[in-house]
Amino acid sequence: MKRNFLFILILFLNANTMIGQKKTNHDLTCYANSLDVLEEVENDLFTVFSTNEKVTIAEELEVGEVVYEKMKEKHTIRTSGSDYDRVSEIMNALIKQISTFANPTSNENFSKYKPHYKIYIIESNEINAFTAGARIFVTTGIYNFCKSKDELACIIGHEICHNELGHIAEKIKKYKTASGYLGDELGAIANNIGSFLTQPFNQKNEGHCDLFGLDLARAAGYDACQNIQLWSRMNENNGEKDIFSIFSSHPYSGDRATCSKNHLKKNYNMNCNN
Ligand SMILES: [Zn+2]
Repeated sequence: MKRNFLFILILFLNANTMIGQKKTNHDLTCYANSLDVLEEVENDLFTVFSTNEKVTIAEELEVGEVVYEKMKEKHTIRTSGSDYDRVSEIMNALIKQISTFANPTSNENFSKYKPHYKIYIIESNEINAFTAGARIFVTTGIYNFCKSKDELACIIGHEICHNELGHIAEKIKKYKTASGYLGDELGAIANNIGSFLTQPFNQKNEGHCDLFGLDLARAAGYDACQNIQLWSRMNENNGEKDIFSIFSSHPYSGDRATCSKNHLKKNYNMNCNN
């Protein structure tokens, strides 16, 4: 009897922690294309070979630190000034919203990266943003390409999501498997992993981050519709691939605009005009 009571109490407490957490529908079929078939085969292979491999937050953070050190060697990095204050304020507003959402994936570290996030502006004309181990990097190129705080919020929200949805951990896990890493030489891995992490993710992961990034941006009070303008503008500029490396391996910015629009309509009944 006592045990039953405890069980019910635990259920009640668990249910209570879930109350108020938002859950939106992330329709990833919107992004389906033939490339993902290859990606799925690759994932299956890695799953077979890496069943027991786990990536801890500490490992992710260590990789993030190495990526930061590598970026610092190659580029001028800004951590102060009005542009920096702007991106920092946006990032902080977005991370406050993470735990108001139910975990959209099976990443057990969802919402645990919060105290570790750091953002940097890299002096570079390349239009790019990327993340590793809770460190978010935006170039001056993408900063200037964004026309508003709302557009920046969609980009920064997207990068936060690669951490929260476990995509960084997945990449590290794949790298560990591929390199036959089994011991404790994470530093060596991290040194080789920088370029691996600055590449875009597969389209489904990119899509998932677009959508959950929009959820965060909207919850923080930004105009999520502006993400659609952003992707449409990137699509128009697709010819200049060399400076648009954020989507150089993803000729799908058109899909990204459409899928973002559908997401906002379906989940929030928002009608974006663009
Ligand atoms: Zn991305």
